Amino acid sequence: MAHEKTFVIVGGGSSGWMTAAFLTSVFENTPHKFVLVESSEVPSIGVGEATVHSIRGFLAACKIEEGRFLLESAGTFKHGILFKDWNQVPEGATIGNQFFHSFEQYPQIAPEHMASHWINATLGGKNTERYDRWSGVQSILAAGGKCPKTWQDTAYQAPVPYSYHLDANKFAHFLKEVATARGVQHHVKHILDIKQDDRGNITSLVLEGGESIDGDFFFDCTGFASVLSRKLGATFKDMRYLLSCDRAVTIRVPFADENHAPRPYTTATARDIGWTFEIDLQARQGIGLVYSSDHAGAEEAERAIRRDFPQIPDDAELNHLRMQVGRLDRAWNKNCLALGLAAGFIEPLESTGLYMVETALRLFVDYLDLEVRETALSNRFNDIFNDLFDEAADFVFLHYYLSNRQDTPFWQDDRYNKQCPEQLRALLDLWEHKIPTDTDPTNQHLIFQSPSYAAILYGMGHLPKHVPQSVAHIPPEKSMEHLAQLQRIQKAAITSSPIHEEFLQKYTATFR
Ligand SMILES: Cc1cc2nc3c(=O)[nH]c(=O)nc-3n(C[C@H](O)[C@H](O)[C@H](O)COP(=O)(O)OP(=O)(O)OC[C@H]3O[C@@H](n4cnc5c(N)ncnc54)[C@H](O)[C@@H]3O)c2cc1C
Repeated sequence: MAHEKTFVIVGGGSSGWMTAAFLTSVFENTPHKFVLVESSEVPSIGVGEATVHSIRGFLAACKIEEGRFLLESAGTFKHGILFKDWNQVPEGATIGNQFFHSFEQYPQIAPEHMASHWINATLGGKNTERYDRWSGVQSILAAGGKCPKTWQDTAYQAPVPYSYHLDANKFAHFLKEVATARGVQHHVKHILDIKQDDRGNITSLVLEGGESIDGDFFFDCTGFASVLSRKLGATFKDMRYLLSCDRAVTIRVPFADENHAPRPYTTATARDIGWTFEIDLQARQGIGLVYSSDHAGAEEAERAIRRDFPQIPDDAELNHLRMQVGRLDRAWNKNCLALGLAAGFIEPLESTGLYMVETALRLFVDYLDLEVRETALSNRFNDIFNDLFDEAADFVFLHYYLSNRQDTPFWQDDRYNKQCPEQLRALLDLWEHKIPTDTDPTNQHLIFQSPSYAAILYGMGHLPKHVPQSVAHIPPEKSMEHLAQLQRIQKAAITSSPIHEEFLQKYTATFR
């Protein structure tokens, strides 16, 4: 029988309420108490609307119904990300100017990897179509406005991996309702300080007005301020040496055309001073320009986003955000775990923000021992968390590093052109000879698997020097036959998949 413990969560943004919903599910029917404190003086960031496919497992672990989540969060389905203009290519070129990064594994059609057959057919002069036409069915479903789920699929299941777009404020509000209904005590108070025991563990939080809240374990979900972690003396690893984008300007707008059907994918378009995201929810879009303060100021960014998206009303106020790029050295420090922006952040190009929250929470319960304070557990947690975070940073960096854009000072930035993290460089050397496979990385803890690396490499036109050895003896025509086979599978998938918007309406209707 577990002894009663008190878990105190500080922060009422997405990460705070995700923590509350998750812990109350995992520790259901235990005597533990849960408290969440947020400040009325510090608003939550209110952005963070695209997720990756592991979120389904997280929501299921929180014992949340999928249809209700979609309804309450104004959510839509996501097959992946469409990248536009990340390369400058000759007019008419079909490879390198646009690509889709889906959540799919390599399709298993031929004895050899389909990626190798695509390279064989392409280098053999038989194929001019983009890699994502061959990488499975998901890019085709996305382009056709089809849903990843079929009518037969149960909650969180589908023939292809998928994730969601969600309204960040509605999502946090929904999780708040879930968590408070499960008994989480909610306080709106500003935290001024912490009290610690002689070993440095937090014993209580000092609130405005002099009150205090005692606890056994604390979660720092205070956004970029990292209030508790900084008071515990955590150090921050700044990653702007790798990724220059540290500002964003965002807005929520109605669809430009009232007949616009929400797209089941995120769009990330490279721009002169950074890149923009478009995220379609059920009845509106989230738009943002992510840029570097080294190359543009807020006014220039605002002019740029208004120019790129004329549907933004002239009198609409835009949301200007500063982003702290990097991570804490120890997200889990003493009896405190930092989550979300408080633990670290890199630009949202691959939607890794909420992913890091859910992954950290799952890892945390795996490495937790509430009866003894054992630093070997938190040390291991931190090693894994840091590996995952650093890989995400390398993966985002890869998009810039592979780009041949040199047309503006942003794209000429030395960070993207001269340096490459050692681990990534070693992988790129391998991939000059072979396709990415999961045995390539030496790091065991990865967010992105080999098909993701292939999507970016081949999407941006970085093929191996030669046809991979496993297919070098196969005539390119034969590789084209495998494409024809995949196309038949794609056609069947298109036929059996419902229209995204129709599915959403019917799927959420029972929860209205
Ligand atoms: C431009 C942009 C786009 C993004 N897009 C994505 C995306 O597409 N996908 C994705 O997964 N992630 C994305 N993110 C990241 C995502 O927004 C965050 O990971 C997510 O919202 C979690 O935020 P948070 O809860 O950690 O912090 P916040 O939302 O900032 O919440 C902080 C909370 O702490 C409280 N607080 C602060 N100080 C105190 C104090 N002293 N006392 C008490 N309470 C306090 C505040 O009141 C607030 O409730 C994006 C981020 C940015 C900047």
